Amino acid sequence: MRWDHLAENPATARDAALFGAEAVTTRTFDTPEFQGMTFHEIRARSIVNRVPGASRMPFEWTVNPYRGCTHACVYCFARRTHSYLDLDTGHDFDSQIVVKVNAPELLRRQLASPRWRGEHIAMGTNVDCYQRAEGRYRLMPGIIAALRDHANPFSILTKGTLILRDLDLIRQAAEVTEVGISVSVGFTDQELWRTVEPGTPAPERRLDIVRAFADHGIDCGVLMAPVLPFLSDHPDRLRDTVRAIAASGATSVTPLVLHLRPGAREWYMAWLERHHPHLVRRYERLYTEGAYAPKWYQRQVTRQVHELAEEFGMGPRRAGLPRRLAPPEPAPAEQAPDTAPTQLTLL
Ligand code: SF4
Repeated sequence: MRWDHLAENPATARDAALFGAEAVTTRTFDTPEFQGMTFHEIRARSIVNRVPGASRMPFEWTVNPYRGCTHACVYCFARRTHSYLDLDTGHDFDSQIVVKVNAPELLRRQLASPRWRGEHIAMGTNVDCYQRAEGRYRLMPGIIAALRDHANPFSILTKGTLILRDLDLIRQAAEVTEVGISVSVGFTDQELWRTVEPGTPAPERRLDIVRAFADHGIDCGVLMAPVLPFLSDHPDRLRDTVRAIAASGATSVTPLVLHLRPGAREWYMAWLERHHPHLVRRYERLYTEGAYAPKWYQRQVTRQVHELAEEFGMGPRRAGLPRRLAPPEPAPAEQAPDTAPTQLTLL
C-alpha cells in the first residue's frame, strides 16, 4: 500500500475519547480527492453486527468496515450514527471517516467461530463500503475473500464504481454461495446529482456497474433510492430513470421514497433552502407526520415505477435477492461429449 499521506498522527486525545482503546491513528492525504478529509483508523473489537430486532430491514447481520461516507449524499439516513461518536451529522459525516483497518482479519476469525451459523451478511446497508476511502484502504477484497472461503452468503448495496475492482472475487464467491448485488440509482438527472450526491459517481457510471456484472453472468438489481418528492418524481423523470435502469440490464428495480430521519432531516432541509427554497413549505407539509412521506404518496410512486418497469420489460425479482452461480462447467476437453458448452448459469 502506498501512503503518500500529508500527515499521520498517533491517536489524539480526542480519538482516544471517541474510540477508546480501539483508536490507532489519524491520517490526512494530500491528493485532491481526499482534500479536507480525516481518516480515523481503529482496530475494531467486533465486525459482524446484529440488526436490532425492531428494524424493518430484511436481514439480520451486517458488516460495515467504515463509519461516515465520503459520497456525501445530503439525504443520507446514516448521518445520525455520527452523533453517537460526538461528531456532527453534517460536514463531519462526509469528512471524518472511521476506518476499521482490521475488518478482514476480524471477519475471517468470526466466520471461523463455532458459534457462527453461516447466516446472510448484508454490506453497504449503513454506509457505502465502496466509498472513495476504499480505494486507499482496500478492505473489501479481504472481506469478500473471507466470505468466499467460508461459502457464507452475502449481499452488497453500493453507489461506488470501485466495486468493479473486486468483480472477479465476487464472481468466485458467487460460485460457492448466494451473492446479491444491488446498485443505488434514485434518478438520472445530472444537475440534481451534482448538488445532492456530490461525492458519488454519476448515475450513468453506476449503471455501468450493472452492465459489467450482467456481462459476467451475475444478476444486479437497482435500488431506485431515494425518489425525491417534487424533484425526481415527475412522471417524465421517473420514466427517464426507469428506462436507463432497464437499458443497463438490471434484473429488477425497487423504488424507495426519501425518508428524513433526524440527522439527515436538518441537513437536507438546509440544502433544500439553499437550492430549492420554493419547495421548503411543500416538504414540511409532506413530512408533517415524521420521517416518512404519507403512505398514499409512497404507493403512488411505487405503482408508477412498477408500471414503467413492466413497460420496459424488467422482471419481477426483488433487487439484491441473493443468487448463486453454478460452478463453471468443466473445460471442453473434460466434458462428456453430450454436455452443453461452457457457460456460467444462474441457479
Ligand atoms: S452513498 Fe449511501 S452511505 Fe454514502 S452518503 Fe450516500 S446514501 Fe449515505
